[in-house]
Amino acid sequence: MTDQAAAARTHVRDAEMEALRIPGLDGATPLRAIEKVGIVGAGTMGGGIAMSFANAGIPVAIVDMSQDGLDRGLLLVRKNYDASAAKGRMSASDVEARMGLLHASLDYGDLAECDLIIEAVFEDLALKRQVCAEIAAVAKTGAVIATNTSTLDVDSLARASGRPEDFIGLHFFSPANIMRLLEVVRGRCTAPDVLATVLALASRIGKTPVVSGVCYGFIGNRMSEVYMRETEYLLLEGATPKQIDTAIEALGFAMGPCRMLDMAGIDVGAKTVIEWKKSGRAPTNPSYRVVVDELFRRGRHGQKTGVGYYRYEERTAVPDPDLDPIIEGLANAHGVIRREAIPDDEIVSRLLYAMVNEGCRILEDGIAYRPGDIDVVWTAGYGFPKDLGGPMFWAEQVGLAKIVEAILDFQVRFSAEDWVLGSLLSKGAKEGRGLDEVLAGAA
Ligand code: NAD
Repeated sequence: MTDQAAAARTHVRDAEMEALRIPGLDGATPLRAIEKVGIVGAGTMGGGIAMSFANAGIPVAIVDMSQDGLDRGLLLVRKNYDASAAKGRMSASDVEARMGLLHASLDYGDLAECDLIIEAVFEDLALKRQVCAEIAAVAKTGAVIATNTSTLDVDSLARASGRPEDFIGLHFFSPANIMRLLEVVRGRCTAPDVLATVLALASRIGKTPVVSGVCYGFIGNRMSEVYMRETEYLLLEGATPKQIDTAIEALGFAMGPCRMLDMAGIDVGAKTVIEWKKSGRAPTNPSYRVVVDELFRRGRHGQKTGVGYYRYEERTAVPDPDLDPIIEGLANAHGVIRREAIPDDEIVSRLLYAMVNEGCRILEDGIAYRPGDIDVVWTAGYGFPKDLGGPMFWAEQVGLAKIVEAILDFQVRFSAEDWVLGSLLSKGAKEGRGLDEVLAGAA
């Protein structure tokens, strides 16, 4: 390992510890006892979240609206446990013990004894507001109520519950029983003891928590949105999914953006973008995220349908010639000029500088407490290489001035609306200081 990679890994380790230090919380903050957990929604996330608690010996009540949903959810959990047992990672009696901690029900009343109740129903604001109100109607006094939303307004859901001080966002990542990252979304009214309680609980279930404020996509998905924005613009300009992914994977990423979205589900990504556009807060460029929209419309939902940005032979992604005319058609419809050859270093700088700039704006907005928190989100949740230390650490190695210079060039060559330079990044570059230092100066 190079000295640089070792320094980056040390930074990530330190940042994970530092992320637990929350202004306003200390050892004296009381904790609420969490002995039993409730989950509403037995889908992909609900099942994985239930496993995370059962693995730590915590009993879970799972409620779904349909018997089918419950049966499917529990069957998937059992299949996952059986697969672990088949690999020798647990015994058959462990499987039974963990399954025995799960109590499935169609009745919200079965949540009444739970100390923490997490909703994990479809990503739809109106539905989630209704579910949060229903949970609050049955939850006992002092229970923590949480949402697993990926992008929606946690404060709006907190208000719908009528118990905003008991309310918090717990954004698990998929697969929830495996991914270490837990974005803890602190609402405007979240009580300090609720925050302290879930941070302590995160360690109990082996998660790495990072606290985020409320905004579209929180820390991770807000940054992922600009990363995907540039990915799609590059596709429209003539780059291929393979070229983009290879350029990013060459840096050590677990997978490039196209393979990542194919795995997460084009449908999941598209629905989020569609909801965001509906809210009127998404960028106004008509070609914004049109690729994901079009693939969704055509039923190309990624790995789950065998075709997305790529075609899948078993689980192997292979370039799909049928994609080219689709993208070319979109480029023509939106007047995007196709380019012969797009250099790999342009791909890397457009994707990663967009992410760095958004990270700086997240810090300016007070959504993340410190640059290191952002690095933890990306290394623990999105496959950003630990040897690069996370996007904010990496940015300082590259040089903030160099990044600013490139962004100013992108404003002219591409879109001034997309490439609005954050003041923190600009200040750091101008003053030749690190982001932590600039933030400390501003405090
Ligand atoms: P899913 O479609 O797999 O599961 C949703 C479940 O909710 C279904 O079983 C459905 O029957 C149930 N449900 C719907 N309405 C209900 C109600 N009124 N009462 C009880 N149950 C109800 O969805 P998912 O992928 O598990 O996503 C759930 C949440 O997790 C969403 O908010 C999503 O944004 C978030 N999330 C998803 C991912 C991911 O990669 N899938 C990652 C992070 C967060």
